Amino acid sequence: LKASNSLSHSLQAKMSRPVQARRLEGIDKNIWVDFVKLAATYSKVNLGQGFPDFPAPDFLTEALTRALSGGNHMLHQYTRAFGHPPLVEVLAQFFEKLLGRDLDPMTNVMVTVGAYHALFCCFQALVDEGDEVIIIEPFFDCYESMVKMAGGTPVFVPLRPNSPKDGKLMSSADWQMDPAEVASKFSERTKAIVLNSPNNPLGKVFSRGELGLIAELCVKHDVLCISDEVYEWLVYDGKQHIRIASLQGMWDRTVTIGSAGKTFSVTGWKVGWVVGPNRLIQHIRTVHQNSVYHCATIAQEAVAQGFQRELMLYGKPESYFVQLPKELQQKRDWLVQSLDDVGMKPIIPEGTYFLVADISQFKSDVPDVPNSDEPYDYRFTKWMVKNKGLAAIPLSAFYSEAHKNNYTNFIRFCFAKEDATLKAANDILQKWKQEK
Ligand code: PMP
Repeated sequence: LKASNSLSHSLQAKMSRPVQARRLEGIDKNIWVDFVKLAATYSKVNLGQGFPDFPAPDFLTEALTRALSGGNHMLHQYTRAFGHPPLVEVLAQFFEKLLGRDLDPMTNVMVTVGAYHALFCCFQALVDEGDEVIIIEPFFDCYESMVKMAGGTPVFVPLRPNSPKDGKLMSSADWQMDPAEVASKFSERTKAIVLNSPNNPLGKVFSRGELGLIAELCVKHDVLCISDEVYEWLVYDGKQHIRIASLQGMWDRTVTIGSAGKTFSVTGWKVGWVVGPNRLIQHIRTVHQNSVYHCATIAQEAVAQGFQRELMLYGKPESYFVQLPKELQQKRDWLVQSLDDVGMKPIIPEGTYFLVADISQFKSDVPDVPNSDEPYDYRFTKWMVKNKGLAAIPLSAFYSEAHKNNYTNFIRFCFAKEDATLKAANDILQKWKQEK
């Protein structure tokens, strides 16, 4: 009995040790886990998480069907670990055009499980304990936790809104960095800056001048740039997406991340990539081979065919990369109009399929709770999905803890939706306005 008592005692003692690794401290919360669940439970119209509810293009689903039922049964087996050869080859050809330089498909391009995995590989490969990484706020939330998980320290610099003149609606271009403030964040501890243009959640498309400033600082301080360009084709009003890797001195210090999910409206396929110099990509491959090692062959085969089509149609009206932004621009304009009509002032996005709107005029329906831990926009968004059936995402989810409370009057909508979905959202908003 004594022996078994001491055994159970030692088992208990062992179990009281923390089971989780220290690197997980402070990164256990995730906004998407909560808000996706709420939308699934309550929403009648879901303009929350970023994914299209319209079908993927036929040429892509047909490519997948061909890959599945064609004669090549080896497409069901592992392919090259760092990227299916037809996909890295066509990506290299495509990016040679976009970046104006020769690329080696085997060393300058790597395929990942979506852009999310590409980001993870980059942070793990490039950020060390004690390194600082500059993140421009508001930002896609995983940057902060991925930097922390790699042992780094995020350093935030905000985009600050400037009021538009003549009572015009605000545009994402009105959100700007203060050059002196950005410069002040660079130091000898800075390892990298994360750039996301077009930016989720605002839809801001960084101008050549803004990118030039970041590039100059990166070169001056020998800092790397992790450039998340998953919305590279979703740019409106004739604006141009400029790739920071194409600016002087930037190729050697930039990794550019893309996503077939966003590019071809197939977020569930989870095919992403990283393009950059081998001196950086070689280390990113090390993380890849120690995390997932292979990505799904069949999805890569179909995405490769999609890119082959787009390469042939580059710049032509039939190109999906021309058609998709055209369609989305109409949807954007429609949602802008619909929100403006009810007084939920939209900030017109220059790119992406997101739109941020000001909820100030609706606050009286959802009273504030003083001294609550939860930012007001979280409470507003939860109330809206439960009481009105309309799902969105609070903007403060895209801010660091220290700055969350400065931006609690805005929520983000996704407009990559069928016209019927957008109309249903409009009906909810109109009815709500009438009830007020
Ligand atoms: N970066 C940004 C800015 C995003 O918005 C998203 C998706 N919401 C991702 C990366 C992840 O892309 P993927 O689905 O290809 O992993």
